[in-house]
Amino acid sequence: MKMVNKIYCPVCKQEVGFKIKKSLIKEYKGVQVNVEENIPYCSKCGTELFVPEIENDNLKRLYRRYGELTGLITPEDIAKIRKKYNLSQRELGQILGWGKMTINRYERGALPSVSHSDILKLISKSKDFLIEKAEEALREGRISEKTYQKIQKTDKPHITDLRRKVIETELNQTESVFNGFKRFDFEKLENLISYIADKVDNLYLSSLNKYLWYIDFLHFKRHLYSVTGLSYIKYAFGPVIKGFVFNEIAAYPSNKYYVEEYEMEDGAIQTKFKSKKNYHLTIFTTDELQTIDTVINALKDKTCKAISELSHNETGWQQTPYSELISYEYAEQLKLFN
Ligand SMILES: [Zn+2]
Repeated sequence: MKMVNKIYCPVCKQEVGFKIKKSLIKEYKGVQVNVEENIPYCSKCGTELFVPEIENDNLKRLYRRYGELTGLITPEDIAKIRKKYNLSQRELGQILGWGKMTINRYERGALPSVSHSDILKLISKSKDFLIEKAEEALREGRISEKTYQKIQKTDKPHITDLRRKVIETELNQTESVFNGFKRFDFEKLENLISYIADKVDNLYLSSLNKYLWYIDFLHFKRHLYSVTGLSYIKYAFGPVIKGFVFNEIAAYPSNKYYVEEYEMEDGAIQTKFKSKKNYHLTIFTTDELQTIDTVINALKDKTCKAISELSHNETGWQQTPYSELISYEYAEQLKLFN
């Protein structure tokens, strides 16, 4: 605390030095608080003086004690919430629909109302409650998508990292005829999925495998390298990403796409990919974009079953034994794009 050492005394009518005496505040708003306060007084005549810094400090200690006794949230706990979700004071205020400076005042020691305190305490205990509030704020335009994402992103960070590790460990192999002589590129894959999901109405997981396979193989046929660096195996319903990693890709909390799950008439669960429409096409070359659009246009009006049948007609799928990697050498014989 910055302290002044001289202050105007209205009795002595001049700037004077002051001393401090202690006094006890016994009660505040009907609660026994017993907080010591510092009272400055004129060192010449003894008149009690008002020093804003000292008064501020007294109030802070009084509010803290009162807050402790009545169970109000503390300034530290409010700061902890913000730190956990990487939110500014202003963002937290906007999420809750409070004034611009409200959180700032609380963190500096002002006493929150009981209802505000209750809301903050709920948030510190329940992430779901914060998300609920943030969704409401997003709908009502008080916060940006970016602020909203910050809260979502803190969701179990190590699980997110782990999923990504599983995906990359399985797929990150040296260049070979099984990945189209390209290193697997996860960011490219995320953007590609987001783009396809944006252009195709119903992009189910089973079809996504074939879209990617056709894109990679067609591009290899044309340019002798793949787009994503993915490896594919022969599976009963067509080519799928090696190691069944497509399940991890579907479960990955991507910033570019998300999935919805549907129960079909026969009780099976279908996973549908949806685009967040924020893909970057600049990471693809013009040639790659041409290949991608060619495949999308060829498949987008076809059903999952029809796409599956097309892939069964391909030599690469027919000649490869079940569960084994499909060589990009078969790209040359693609029948769909002759
Ligand atoms: Zn005086």
